[in-house]
Amino acid sequence: MKVFLSVDMEGISGLVRWQDVASSGIDFERNRRLMTGDANAAIDGAFEAGADAVVVEENHGVEDLCVLLTEEIDPRCTVVRGAGRPGPTTMSALDESVDAVFLVGHHAAGGTWPGIMAHTISSGRFREVRIGGRRVGEPDLFAIRAGEMGAATALVTGDQMVIEELRKRVPEVESVQVKRALGRQSGEIVPPVRAREAIREGARQAIERVASGEITPYRGEPAPYEIEVDLLEAPGASMRANLESLPEFELVSERTVATDAPDMDLGFRRIAYLTYADMEGRVRY
Ligand SMILES: [Zn+2]
Repeated sequence: MKVFLSVDMEGISGLVRWQDVASSGIDFERNRRLMTGDANAAIDGAFEAGADAVVVEENHGVEDLCVLLTEEIDPRCTVVRGAGRPGPTTMSALDESVDAVFLVGHHAAGGTWPGIMAHTISSGRFREVRIGGRRVGEPDLFAIRAGEMGAATALVTGDQMVIEELRKRVPEVESVQVKRALGRQSGEIVPPVRAREAIREGARQAIERVASGEITPYRGEPAPYEIEVDLLEAPGASMRANLESLPEFELVSERTVATDAPDMDLGFRRIAYLTYADMEGRVRY
């Protein structure tokens, strides 16, 4: 069994505020260690339950997506890191060889309250992202893409809100709540040492439940996907010009862009394009 482990930072045990996950924050170096620790706990649980391979993909968008401490990560895994990855960045290694997907340190969707550092793809650009009229977070996009690849979305770790949201789509997903969101930058945390024990156990259960057929690939979202993105700010002249030249995008109201996609490879890339579509003349994604 091969595991794809997407590791983000906002849902890591112990972390509650933006400065915890920004490279300018006073605790950033320590927090990288906490992130590596949560990932290692999940990797350990996966191997303990019989996984043959774990590929970790870095999902946190600072420092060109190079945040894990590579000298401390479990030597049995491999790690995909760095910017400019082919296809949908953060899903490069999610291919048909993967059996189970783990989402470690993930966070609730943009528009969710409370929700520790809740956002979808961009906290600075997007208010909310919807598919088929329903608000989605990054775990939803991973679950949909995993289903397309025939992989089961098996584990999520983070606050109570990211778990609640993913369970609406994948009710059987194994979950480990490492903190309880009280606001966007506040919460009640489980100390990381104890959180890691729970993550290891959750990962073990997740692999066993995939192996027994109890957790299966998610295929509940009908393609093509109808996507809407509410921007925080109305697009300026260069973004409007870019979108006008791309027939797959439509500005449907002052701040809402609609697009669609036959699969989540393209869907993810089209959503992500809107984070840099204001660059003059930038019409490729
Ligand atoms: Zn992140």
